[in-house]
Amino acid sequence: MSSVSFKDFRTSAARAIADVRLQSAIDGATLTFRTGRVKALADLPDVDGLRDQLKAIRSATLARLADHLEMFEQQARAAGSHVYWARDAAEANRFVLDIAQQHGAKLAVKSKSMATEEIHLNAELQNAGITPVETDLGEWIIQLAGEPPSHIIGPALHKTREQVAELFSREVGRTLPPDDIPMLTAEARRLLREQFLAADIGISGANIGVAETGSVVLVTNEGNGRLVTSAPPVHIAIMGIEKIAPTWDDAAVWLALLARSSTGQPMSCYTTAITGPARDGDPDGPREVYIVLLDNGRADLVGSDYDEILQCIRCGACLNACPVYQEVGGHSYGVPYSGPVGAVLMPLLYGLAENEALPHASSLCGACLDVCPARIDLPRLLLKLRAEEVREHMLTPQERLLENAVAFVLRHPRLYRALTGLGRIFQRPLARGGLLRLPRRLNPAGERQLPALAKRSFRSMWNEIKDGQL
Ligand code: SF4
Repeated sequence: MSSVSFKDFRTSAARAIADVRLQSAIDGATLTFRTGRVKALADLPDVDGLRDQLKAIRSATLARLADHLEMFEQQARAAGSHVYWARDAAEANRFVLDIAQQHGAKLAVKSKSMATEEIHLNAELQNAGITPVETDLGEWIIQLAGEPPSHIIGPALHKTREQVAELFSREVGRTLPPDDIPMLTAEARRLLREQFLAADIGISGANIGVAETGSVVLVTNEGNGRLVTSAPPVHIAIMGIEKIAPTWDDAAVWLALLARSSTGQPMSCYTTAITGPARDGDPDGPREVYIVLLDNGRADLVGSDYDEILQCIRCGACLNACPVYQEVGGHSYGVPYSGPVGAVLMPLLYGLAENEALPHASSLCGACLDVCPARIDLPRLLLKLRAEEVREHMLTPQERLLENAVAFVLRHPRLYRALTGLGRIFQRPLARGGLLRLPRRLNPAGERQLPALAKRSFRSMWNEIKDGQL
């Protein structure tokens, strides 16, 4: 169960900001993603039209989500897959454990899946005596480090090559040089290949579920997704119920924007479609395929004021663009989905009171909306959550006092003018370059600096214009 208080967020954000190595890792990675995205989208003839199309597809699909899910289930069963519906994380984990235990599984290889992070599947597998091995390079790195992912797309984005070399050296029992990247990846490949061959089950997420054929689509860059879903005799895919595309044509629009928006590639290296288990005569492939459709609070959002967030295709572009994420990194959020999308999604799935700080982890600058391929109005959703906190009396007594005081001043123009006049005098030691440079104590997360009060108010200038003095 996720829980992030203001105190938790401020403490972890301040720690992240003070960590020079972390800052340089986040800066480098988010800049690479951002510039890659801009270049990749520039190759498209009508990127705005394509984004509009994706928005229309996602919105129409969610309006008839139940029908599309039924079609998906029917077609997936017809193709030979087993389909389970999981109301929540506990049910999803139980299905996976039951399947694993029915097959006597002791070792599970996994490809990167945020849904399995969301339900904390690895811990459940371990408790049941099944060893989960992450096979996406970034996920494997953080598994070795015992950490959660810090980014939807780049889970180990916060790690430097020196830290990675240290982790791998511990694993292979000899010192590996941090500058020899080919050697590090070769070692990872060697170790992981043994796991693929020995695994009893393969577990993946699902980028898209295509309803018309009951197919699960995986988008990966390392080929590990293909090995996870075809080398072990059993494949289990965990898919959030919102990840449905009614047709392959719809999926094609989704895919045209997914990799471009996330890593800046025209396409990911591997786009894999799985439609049922191996057929007679197939040289390889799993004998059984199970698809777990994960609700975990999503169905309640359909038709609500927040259902736009279900249009998310998990590209991660909003994280890379967010000035707060760029400062504090993913771990500060304390939840599996970080950045603007996580700040909206986690309170909706796991409770606003439990995650009160997350809707405030934003400067509301709108950069997330600008880059979102599905044009999700994240600032509107964040503001709505904040308004709900006020309505539900979730603010601290100090915050309530401050809000009431501001509301009182704004209702009394003379008082407002008197106070802003005083503000102009007292802000002088803090105002530089048009901004108020607040001491770190008053701005611990390094959030947006307040603009300084203008030297003269618009009203006084307007009065002078009217009087012909200006
Ligand atoms: S909210 Fe938009 S930008 Fe952020 S991960 Fe989802 S689709 Fe990508």
